[in-house]
Formats: sequence, C-alpha cells, structure tokens
Amino acid sequence: MPARIETQDGQVIVREDPRSLPIAASVDVVVLGGGVAGLAAALAAAECGSAVLIVERGNCLGGTATAGMMTLFYTPYRCAHGIPRRIFDRLIMAGGAFPGEVISFDHEVFKSVAFEMVAERGVGLLLHTICADVIMDGPRVCGLVVENKGARSAVLGRMFVDASGDADIAARAGAPMMLGRDTDRKMRPMSLLFRLGGLDVDRVLDYVRAHPEDFSRDPNQMLLDVEGRNIRIFGFFSLVEAAKREGLLFDDCHYFRIEAVMPDRGTALVNTVRIYDVDGTNPEHVTRAEIEGRRQQRKLLEFARRFVPGCERAYVLDTASHIGVRETRRIEGDYVLTEEDIVGGAHFADSIGVDSNRQNPHGPRHSPDGMEGAASDIETRQLVARLFTYEIPYRCLLPRNIEGVVMAGRTISANHAADGYTRNQPACMVTGQAAGVAAALAARAGGEARALNLQEIQAALRGFGTRLHRGELPGS
Ligand SMILES: Cc1cc2nc3c(=O)[nH]c(=O)nc-3n(C[C@H](O)[C@H](O)[C@H](O)COP(=O)(O)OP(=O)(O)OC[C@H]3O[C@@H](n4cnc5c(N)ncnc54)[C@H](O)[C@@H]3O)c2cc1C
Repeated sequence: MPARIETQDGQVIVREDPRSLPIAASVDVVVLGGGVAGLAAALAAAECGSAVLIVERGNCLGGTATAGMMTLFYTPYRCAHGIPRRIFDRLIMAGGAFPGEVISFDHEVFKSVAFEMVAERGVGLLLHTICADVIMDGPRVCGLVVENKGARSAVLGRMFVDASGDADIAARAGAPMMLGRDTDRKMRPMSLLFRLGGLDVDRVLDYVRAHPEDFSRDPNQMLLDVEGRNIRIFGFFSLVEAAKREGLLFDDCHYFRIEAVMPDRGTALVNTVRIYDVDGTNPEHVTRAEIEGRRQQRKLLEFARRFVPGCERAYVLDTASHIGVRETRRIEGDYVLTEEDIVGGAHFADSIGVDSNRQNPHGPRHSPDGMEGAASDIETRQLVARLFTYEIPYRCLLPRNIEGVVMAGRTISANHAADGYTRNQPACMVTGQAAGVAAALAARAGGEARALNLQEIQAALRGFGTRLHRGELPGS
C-alpha cells in the first residue's frame, strides 16, 4: 500500500502503514559502503571465510577515491602493507598507479580492479542500493532496510561493517556521534574535484621552476618527479592574486593546486574548489555545494586559461560524480584517538595497524575557518610537513552503546585534529581491513566484536602482512 496524504486535526500529514519487508539477502558480514574502507573490509572478511555482501548506493567501488575522483593515496608506497598494499600493487600491475611519495592512480582503472578483486574473493555486490534504516534487536544491529529500483527490502547479517563515510548505520542505531570540530562542530570544506585536459605540462613546469617564490616551500606539496609521475603543484600565489584583483576567482581561493599531473596525457586533477559551512549529512547543504562547486569550477578554468602558462588550451576533461565531502560524523568509540597520540607516537596494545602520513602538526589541514593557503597561512605556505607513523587502537572501531557493528574508514573514533590523519585513504583501508577481520571473526564465533580475543584479530591481520606497531615501518 503506497503512502497516503491525509488531513488530521487540520494538519496535512503523510501516512505510511507498517509493512513487512522481503529479505533480499542474509549473509555473515554486510559491508555498507564500497569506498576504499569498505573494499578493504570486504576483502578481509571474505579472506577470513565469511560470506560477504557490499551494499553501495553508487555504480562502482572506491567511493571518494573513484566516484569522487580523489586519485591520490597520501602515504608513501614504501609504507603500505597488508591489504592496502595488495590494492596498490594490483593497480600498479594494471598500469593504473604510479608509486612514490604519494601514489597517484587512474580512477577508472581502480573501478575495474576493485570489481575484479571482490569477484575473486566471492564477495557479493548490491549496487544502486541505499541503506535507508537499520533493523535492531535490542541494542544489536541485525539488518539494514535498503531501497533500490526493485523494492524496499531487508538485508540481514550476523555482523555489519559501517563504511558509509557518514556513520549511517551507527547514527541510525543511536550510537553517540562527534560532528566536525570539537569546539563548534564546524567541518572541513567540501571540494568538487575535476580534471583539466589540454595542458602543456612542460610549460607549466617551466613556470614553476622559474618562480619558486610563487609556490609552497613544502617539498611534499611540491612534488616534481616527472619520470615517476609524481607531480603535485601548490601555489601560483601571485597569479591567483592578480586574477582576484580583476574580480575573477572567489573569496576563499588563495592558491591554485593541481595534482596527479600526467605530462604525457596533458591532464591534471584540480583540487582548488573550496566550500565552507556545509554539512555533508544535510541534503540542502550538499545541493548548495554541488551548485557552488560548478560555479567555482568555471572560474578556475577561466583562471587557468588566462593566467597559467601552459594552460591556455585547457578544458574540463571530467568532473567527479559528486561533491567531495571531507568530514561529517564520526563515532564516539571505546577510545577516541587524538593528535597528541599520533604526534607523540603512542603505543597501543590493541593496535590493528599503522598508517604513515605527512602533516604539519597543529596546522590547519583544511581548517573549517577558511584562509587555507592565504599569505597568513604559514603552515601551508612555508612549513615542511613531517612523516608521522601512528598506531590505531581496535577500540576506535567500536561504537558505544550498540553491538553488531564495526566501523571502517573516515568515521572511526578520532577527534577532529586526529581525523586530519585518519581520514586519508590508506588509513581508511587499514581500519577497513581490521573491521572486516573483526566482523568475520565475530560472525564465525556468533558473538560480539567487543568480546573478541584481541590476539586472534591481530594474528589474522599479521597474516595479511599488516604491521601492527610503529617501528615496523620504514620512516617511523
Ligand atoms: C576533496 C578531497 C580531497 C582529499 N584528498 C586526499 C588525498 O590527497 N589523499 C588521501 O589519501 N585522502 C584524501 N581525501 C580523503 C579520502 O579520500 C577520504 O576520506 C576516503 O576516501 C574516505 O573513504 P571511506 O571509504 O571511508 O568513505 P567514502 O569514500 O566516502 O565511501 C563511502 C561509500 O559509502 C557509500 N554510501 C554512503 N552512504 C550510503 C548509504 N546510506 N547507502 C549505501 N551506500 C552508501 C558511498 O556511496 C561511498 O561509496 C580527500 C577527500 C576529499 C573529499
């Protein structure tokens, strides 16, 4: 029976009758979200012997990395290990990635490789399907209500990995959440990513080399390894200022940043759109951001053509399928990781993996306040980021007050500053594989993820080649 519009006490209401739902699937481990975290979780759970299903609203795997076109793993290749390393290696073998200080990759190759990898492990896929609600058995999540063109139905599982990027399962199940910055809940800006084609990269590089004062002094922001296809350029400060004096560009633009630059193809990813004061879980905000993203894109294209040597014939080659959301909800887990833990090299007996990430501690890292890359932003313009290797405790994957769910990806329990590290793709894969292992072991035991024997989780992770503690990685 469809919903009906009615009038009750003079008010217009819409009534939906209770109904029973068909059961679309029932498996050991359901992974919500097929981003990099969900991909790693599904591969890990399947490798531990679980029957696994990924539920994904999009048409591909990879999430922000593919549909969102964020084609850079922000970890040096030498520091990658475990399932993330396997994913990198498959991409490299397929000619779709270029290892180095950051690993830039071809998002179209990633989509194909991801489908191949899950098929090889027998992971089930339900694409074009959105999770609309959770099904509870007391404090325990035991199913998802999903919607797609076919029906509204139920997907049941013994365990769930929430890799939705927005903690959709945990939030709907009533777990406590953090949102944005600890003090005021403001979030990092959104960015619509797009690629420019038609570039004469040699001429762009000539300008960069001739004007070092016009670019960030951080060699990590300025990667100019042409042979290794590791090119990232952050600056063009004076050109941006000149364009702004002419009324081109937008207030929040203080630099022009291109990365994943491909000299032979004449293409580059533009990561310069910045939209502030928007919440990725608010549909009106996301709508506004998509429209504003396109407006800024047109201005950036005009800027590139008119001001940047080598970009005179630039055109928009393609644009991400959706706006890039850096930050929304994170769970309050059994432990909250802090930047002090990361910078101080905290040791955690329950570590499920390490990540290596270059940062300026206490720098803005896409501050919700804006001014990123402005002359006053010393951290971005002048300081040199350091490589931090840090441990991630298992407790950060466990949402409080509910059972049946393990978190993976950018929604784990970390405060806003620590999220500047853990939200990056390699870290999302590290937590993804651990969530997949924990979910599989709990499903097999018929128990809760919280009650698992830690040594069993760590042994399974080591079996994948995962390094669990600092000091096991180069550069730590
Ligand atoms: C502009 C931008 C630049 C970035 N730069 C870098 C960088 O240089 N290097 C780096 O390493 N990282 C970078 N990041 C961060 C990184 O890309 C993301 O944090 C990371 O990819 C998140 O992965 P995830 O798997 O946790 O979530 P996501 O990639 O968001 O995946 C979540 C998946 O779940 C699906 N989903 C969500 N809700 C539902 C639902 N209700 N039902 C069904 N499906 C659902 C989504 O469609 C998506 O596929 C950047 C991010 C952005 C936005």
